[in-house]
Amino acid sequence: MDRLIPVTTKEDIFTEYRDTPVGLFLEYHNLDREYETYTQAQLLIGMCMDNRKHLHMPDNFAYIIRAGGANLRHSEFKVSYAIAVGGVKSIALIGHTNCGMVNLIARKELFINGLIENAGWEQDRAEQHFNQFAPMFEIENEVDFILSETQRLRSRYPKIQVAPLLYKVEDNRLYQIPGD
Ligand SMILES: [Zn+2]
Repeated sequence: MDRLIPVTTKEDIFTEYRDTPVGLFLEYHNLDREYETYTQAQLLIGMCMDNRKHLHMPDNFAYIIRAGGANLRHSEFKVSYAIAVGGVKSIALIGHTNCGMVNLIARKELFINGLIENAGWEQDRAEQHFNQFAPMFEIENEVDFILSETQRLRSRYPKIQVAPLLYKVEDNRLYQIPGD
């Protein structure tokens, strides 16, 4: 995690993010910037479904798509909607430390048994379900995944600003991931 750049003052924010919705978002969340009033979304946030995260930002400020590992590959229509209809020009893609999608394969047994016990699934179906979907959501490393997903989104939506960020569940702060 030594590649992360903290935001503890406004000057820490990367120049390319300053005075953009991404910079504002970092100020709201990390620096307690006073909330402005919004009538229209400024930002699309892609983040993990994990329960340990709470974002600080004003009402109406952002669309949020939550998916395992902040993996937006299977939410593309929603991304397109936020851009085309919602009018957002920036995406903040937020990975987080201690993500359950890292080394997902290690939780195969737990996943299958959980579906059987908690949801009433049959063993075969639960196993098939895991085998079918785990490879789509498995992540090797949070930071690397966010960077590769950022590249993919930039090439898919060339006029949109995409900012790779990491949320540390240890301190509930957002960090910038350099790496272009
Ligand atoms: Zn996660």
